[in-house]
Amino acid sequence: MSAPLLEIDGLDAWYGPAQALFGLSLTVARGEAVALIGRNGAGKSTSLKAVMGLVRRRARRLALDGADISALTTHRIARLGVGYVPEDRRIFTDLTMEENIGLARRPGRDGADRWPLERLFALFPNLADLRGRRGGAMSGGEQQMLAVARALVGNPELLLLDEPSEGVAPIIVEQMTAALRELKATGLSILLSEQNVALCEELCDRAYRIDQGELGWSGPMAAARLTAD
Ligand code: ATP
Repeated sequence: MSAPLLEIDGLDAWYGPAQALFGLSLTVARGEAVALIGRNGAGKSTSLKAVMGLVRRRARRLALDGADISALTTHRIARLGVGYVPEDRRIFTDLTMEENIGLARRPGRDGADRWPLERLFALFPNLADLRGRRGGAMSGGEQQMLAVARALVGNPELLLLDEPSEGVAPIIVEQMTAALRELKATGLSILLSEQNVALCEELCDRAYRIDQGELGWSGPMAAARLTAD
């Protein structure tokens, strides 16, 4: 069997002196969509940040496609094919949508650029008319789509998504879900931190539930609603 695309074993993370993650272990296989669920403050965002090297972390093993990434900077990890969509989106509000995307464009590990603007607009039709719109003048839902589009133009193999449904209208959540399903169908691997279990059920095969910084439960997504938290 080939190695999982993302392999996390015994991951601890800290904010200053305060430990926020305790020995988290999980895997994401190639082409798989996996949900990270759990209450507010459980440690979902921290898990994604820890993979990206955005918080102090230590792991028995943290590997991408079989290669150790535990000592790499965020920038290097991104270059290896991990796209990260932070919870707060981090859109440049003074730049246009197209400029926000242009700044993030990088070829993939194989040198290919699979995401010309036309393909992004086919995935997110709402963005097509907003090329010249300043980031700060976009709605929350439009910004969320832009944040995903910006991660895609880095040509990732793995997408880490932090609560893409948070603070956006239900119609946008539907469009986002459809887009994510389409991405998964192309073979992209996804690790989704999300409180919206319905969205996870639409997209994910398996789930891990984090309780107070520790792994509380893992299993098939279809069984996640039945677990007590
Ligand atoms: P949410 O849905 O609220 O983002 P979460 O499951 O993603 O929840 P985290 O944001 O990962 O949770 O938070 C995990 C723990 O780390 C919480 O106890 C939180 O208070 C703490 N924490 C998060 N960010 C910081 C920070 N910048 N400094 C200090 N502590 C933090």
